[in-house]
Amino acid sequence: MKIPGLAVLAPLGFCLLQFACGAQPKAPGADVLLITIDTLRADYIHAYGFPLEITPSIDALAARGVLFENAIAAATLTAPAHASIMTSRYVREHSVGSRNGDTRLEGLPTLAERFAEAGYETAAFISNVVLRRRMGLDRGFATYDDELPASEQNRDRYFERPAEATARQALTWMADQAGNQPVFLWLHLQDPHGPYSAPAPWSGRIDRVALAMRGELGVLNQNSGRAGIPFYQAQEGLRDPARYAALYAEEIQYADHWVGQVISAMEKRSGARGSVILLTADHGESLGENGWFFQHGQSTAPELARVPFIVAAPGLERGRIRGPVSHVDVAPTLLALAGLPGLPDASGRPLRAQLLGEESPEDRLVFCDTDGESAAYGSESWTRIVGSTLSDRPETPPRPIQSESALLSAEGIWLPGELDSQAMDALAEYIEGRAALVAAGPMAPEHIEELRALGYGAPLEDYDEEPTRSGPPAPEPHAGS
Ligand SMILES: [Zn+2]
Repeated sequence: MKIPGLAVLAPLGFCLLQFACGAQPKAPGADVLLITIDTLRADYIHAYGFPLEITPSIDALAARGVLFENAIAAATLTAPAHASIMTSRYVREHSVGSRNGDTRLEGLPTLAERFAEAGYETAAFISNVVLRRRMGLDRGFATYDDELPASEQNRDRYFERPAEATARQALTWMADQAGNQPVFLWLHLQDPHGPYSAPAPWSGRIDRVALAMRGELGVLNQNSGRAGIPFYQAQEGLRDPARYAALYAEEIQYADHWVGQVISAMEKRSGARGSVILLTADHGESLGENGWFFQHGQSTAPELARVPFIVAAPGLERGRIRGPVSHVDVAPTLLALAGLPGLPDASGRPLRAQLLGEESPEDRLVFCDTDGESAAYGSESWTRIVGSTLSDRPETPPRPIQSESALLSAEGIWLPGELDSQAMDALAEYIEGRAALVAAGPMAPEHIEELRALGYGAPLEDYDEEPTRSGPPAPEPHAGS
């Protein structure tokens, strides 16, 4: 069945495949490109419904690939989410846990190792300090480029690399791969992560993006983002949240441009062999929902958990699938599309049969964690337990245990619903069953020494309640403080 257009929604719980079944990808041997964009909400992509056409490259990928409408991040923080992407294990099943920068990924086979074993040339180009090689995500990559030349605007110790610099390194590497070996390339772009400051000519293009909250916000003297502008996000003289949302959109537009350059180069390189391309984000961003601004990691809420998930591969036709799917599906899906065996004991599903229309999407629950909170998502339901602290973080003050469910309305708004007992049972099983599997992977002394040598005085976190440095911008009183 072919349905034109991209805005058609499937009936609840059913497959919406808009492509012919039976086509086979040309893999094995296809090149594989995994793109993760930091802090990119699915709903800021035009193909996912954002009104402005700021993502032509991602939209073009969706226009010839398959877009999963309900893709859920395994975590709402960078390091845990990427560890789940690379291992096909939920946050409670890998050694990074829900921590973001002071634990290492150890003991589990990775996606890159699987490609390397199969004879692929492997390379990663990352842009966020918590993904540096000391975090253990480099395993299996022959090249792991984590040179981060700049620090954030308001935080000296948070190093990063803009999209152009990271993408150019990836393009150079691709040009150097003259042999006939297939490549597995992971490109991570940081730009939508705050502070929102796209370079020219991408800056100044968007005036405002209307948010539910109107009026002006104060700048907080810390980074929580609760009822104010996080310290690290503050732009001189800027208090209008709609302006911050516009700056966020400009960063997405900038990243999208370089995504397009890398996809084009990969396809040119692959030629008739073809390339398997999967684009997702590690997590979203709060833009005023429930009083949180320009921050992530503080909960498992939909604006943080819902990420893009788009797959293009030889033999796949354009389509949309309702889902839900998860970060833990990334590795099994890429390996299956490349004709390779999956990772042992994976928690994710190879989505290949769904992508080819050979199988109906599963009506399932997928899990999302952050520190002190776990959630189960269906395609239109969200149930969370707050207070479910991971056992490897005894220093975290316990929060009272609460649970709630919400349902997605036809207007796209999450409304409180009756507590979903099926989701609660699944969550309880997930939390209790997986706790024993978490082998806390604190960073080895030599890695802590490396951090200190680089000038870091403390573990790094995206979500940091403490002031990161004194000085401007001056804290202002704000509502609720
Ligand atoms: Zn991130």
